[in-house]
Amino acid sequence: MKYELNKEDASMMREMSQFFPWQRRLLFKLMPENLSQVKDIKKMLSPIAAFCRQERSGIIEYLEDVSKTDEHYFRVYESSDCWAFDNVGVAMASYLPSNSAGMCQGIENGKRNWNAIETKCIGLGDPYCEFKLVPGEIDELRDSLEAVDSTIMESVHDRLMHRLIGFLLDGKPLVDRPSLGSEIQLHAVGHTFSFPYLAGERYQMALRMGGSKVGREVGEHLMEAGLSHDEAVKRVINFLKHCKVGKVTAGETIKIEDNCESFYMKLNTLKPEEACCYFTTGFLNGLFSAVKNQRVREIKCVALGDPYCEWEII
Ligand SMILES: [Zn+2]
Repeated sequence: MKYELNKEDASMMREMSQFFPWQRRLLFKLMPENLSQVKDIKKMLSPIAAFCRQERSGIIEYLEDVSKTDEHYFRVYESSDCWAFDNVGVAMASYLPSNSAGMCQGIENGKRNWNAIETKCIGLGDPYCEFKLVPGEIDELRDSLEAVDSTIMESVHDRLMHRLIGFLLDGKPLVDRPSLGSEIQLHAVGHTFSFPYLAGERYQMALRMGGSKVGREVGEHLMEAGLSHDEAVKRVINFLKHCKVGKVTAGETIKIEDNCESFYMKLNTLKPEEACCYFTTGFLNGLFSAVKNQRVREIKCVALGDPYCEWEII
């Protein structure tokens, strides 16, 4: 589902480009109208590769020597999707391949259905990731995506939790990539947050429950480590600040200006009917219930036109 949602999201780039700065709007206008040829993909890739490096999603190279008409190959170093998951047993990229397929579709004005599959991945034990991008179906794609089963997800979850607790208790870096550094890449997360407008109520519920489960687990780990209630909350707030999810302040209430979750919802939803930081609310609820036996409720949300998002603690 995430593959299709990412692809759909990126394919709307032409419509979304009205919100981009003029330099990027201009770049979009200069893109070739057909992406069959190697030279056209090269033209498309250069600004996109620069953007990916800048936002730290990965260092992308077009593999010109093995690519041909309507079959393009890319190598990605230090992919933000896959970096911490070496040898997890599957191809892990959920953002760059599907996003590239959607972008090609958008650039060609939906004339062809593009798809992409990871052919090498840090998750499979390779030293870098590679993906193939073609117009039309890819027979192996479904198997590759469905290989991420519940056992793999558990292993992914354990590695993320291990990193997070290492950061919260011992100040270890969350990520540490040789060229792209230790900053967190939030763009792909933002896309994931904005999908409720495409995927509906069950997706909202999944975000809320996922957030709650993780928040509770983090809270329980911090309690088991012997932290005081206030210290546990303080460390998690510092973690949110470190990840730059927005400008976070915590006192009687918790406020987040420019929260990455509502920012994307606002961008993609014309008229949200309720506060829609589903994951953040779930996460804070899980945390506060584990640490302080309290709950939170979102009382302001940027997506509703408020100047910031705010949660009361009850
Ligand atoms: Zn990968």
